[in-house]
Order: sequence, then C-alpha cells, then structure tokens
Amino acid sequence: MSRIMTCSRRIATAPLVAVLSLLSLGASWAETSDNSARRSEGSSCARANFRVVLDVGHTADAPGAMSARGVNEYEFNLRLAKQIDQTLVDAGFAKTVLMVTGGPGIRSQYERVARANNLSADLLLSIHHDSVPNPFLQKWEYDGKPAIFSDRFKGHSIFVSDDNINLKASLQFGHLLGNQLKVRGLQYTPHYTEKFMGKYQRNLLDAEAGVYRYDTLFVLKKSRMPAVLLEAGSIVNRDEELLLGTPERQSQISAAVADAVESFCVAQPNRHAPQVAQSARRARHVAHARPRHRVKRTADTAPVTTAVQLNIDVH
Ligand SMILES: [Zn+2]
Repeated sequence: MSRIMTCSRRIATAPLVAVLSLLSLGASWAETSDNSARRSEGSSCARANFRVVLDVGHTADAPGAMSARGVNEYEFNLRLAKQIDQTLVDAGFAKTVLMVTGGPGIRSQYERVARANNLSADLLLSIHHDSVPNPFLQKWEYDGKPAIFSDRFKGHSIFVSDDNINLKASLQFGHLLGNQLKVRGLQYTPHYTEKFMGKYQRNLLDAEAGVYRYDTLFVLKKSRMPAVLLEAGSIVNRDEELLLGTPERQSQISAAVADAVESFCVAQPNRHAPQVAQSARRARHVAHARPRHRVKRTADTAPVTTAVQLNIDVH
C-alpha cells in the first residue's frame, strides 16, 4: 500500500462528531450483523443474480508497491483476485466480474468506478497487498540484488469510505469478511491506528473485524454500491510475502471472501427485481476486456482537476 500511500493527496480530517457517529455505526453494526445473518438463516441468496466486482488493484503500468523480493504488488493482486474469482464462480456466483484496468493510476481509477457502476454491481471488492510508509523500509539484498523490506508489521486490513453512498452495507461486508478471515486464523494489523503512521493513520471502525475508515480512497468513495478494499497482507514483510505466495494462503483468503459474500448476499433486501436482473444480464466480464460503450463524461468520470485531486487518494 505504501507506494500508493505516496499518492495520497489529503489526510482525512473529519470533524470529531462525524468520527463518533461512524464509530457508533460500526459498533451497532457489529452488534446486529450476526443477528441479522441469523435471522436470514433459512432465506436464500440469489447467487446467480448477485454480482460481485473484483477490482484488481493497480495496473501493469502502475503496479503499486514492490515486495521484499522484488515482485510488484499488481502481480500479487491479480493472482489472488483470479483465485477469488474462481472460488466465487464455483460457489455459484456466476456473474462475478474480474476487473482489470490499465494505464496510469488516476486514469484507471475513473475506469474502475465507471465500469463497476455500469455493471450494476451489488458489491465491489478491491484487492491489494500492503507495504509501509517509506521511512520504515530497510535495505537488504535478495538474489544478489539490492531490495527493500520491513518486517515490522504483518497482517491484513480492510477499508471503507464514509463518502460511499452505501457506508452501512460496506461496513457490513467488511465485518463479515474480517470475521471470516479471523476464523481461519488470520489476524488484521492494528498499526494503522498508531500516531507514528502520521498521515496514514486511520480510524478503526470495527475492532472485532479490523475495518478501518479511509474516506478518500477513490474507488471506494465514487462507486455507487457497497465497496470494500482488502489489503491481503504485507508483501514487504519477508515472512508474510512468502506466505501470501502460497496456494494455501490464497485459498484461505478466497474461501473467506466467498463465505462473507454468501452471508452478505443472504442479509441483503431483495434487490434483484426483474428489471435489475435484466439490466445486469451481461455476459461475465473477462480479464482485460474493454468497456463495451464509451464512458459518458459524468461527475464520476470527468477528468481530474486539481480541486478533485485534493480530495481523493488514488490507490
Ligand atoms: Zn495497493
């Protein structure tokens, strides 16, 4: 994440009252979500109609962070997202979309949002792998070449944006996902709450599941559906990088996502009225596919201006 962190344009500085309000929302959700899931037992999830968009973080041209062993984040993101995609499809979520974008970072952000919105997605999950702020990085040599690492932090983290129009549902999915990772023995990293993170310090909205507030993440704030970003783990941590590269870890995370999606889908009100189902009756998206239609210039897709840049982080 830190390579992305360097792209940060603004520190979230919400008024205290807003923070407290969100904390309250997160807490109330933590209390009610499991009850909600239980109430929904016996009801079913329309898997075939429920569309998850898996956003592969970064692009081949702007590949994000670099791992301790010199592999770029985009490769980790793409590999894990493909595994999650397959797991969801195997579980019956046939309309899952693996969204791969290209080009420079900011342009790809607009493309991601426009495509997700045009797909009438029920949920957007952005897949990333974490790094650390540059001051924490240390030098070492790997395979005879200079490299950088930081073993100080490990673990995944989950982010939602207060600016997303579906904050409550985003928190709901984040809670489910965090708990599914937890039951598989995976722990979130708490270090984003620390003052030493400086402008990367975040509010922890859900301490049980490890869901942080990161309002200015562009893909989260501009998508018109519940949207969550998962940092699957730290690829600058030398041990965790190796674990994240194993099929076992990728399967664990994929299964956690699939179970969380299932619970989320069950808990949703029926949003698949016939007209919605029809509008979403597109063939499955494939990696690197281009949008079929020219993207309209809307508030969500307009070129970036300096004013806009002050209020977003490209990730
Ligand atoms: Zn990233």
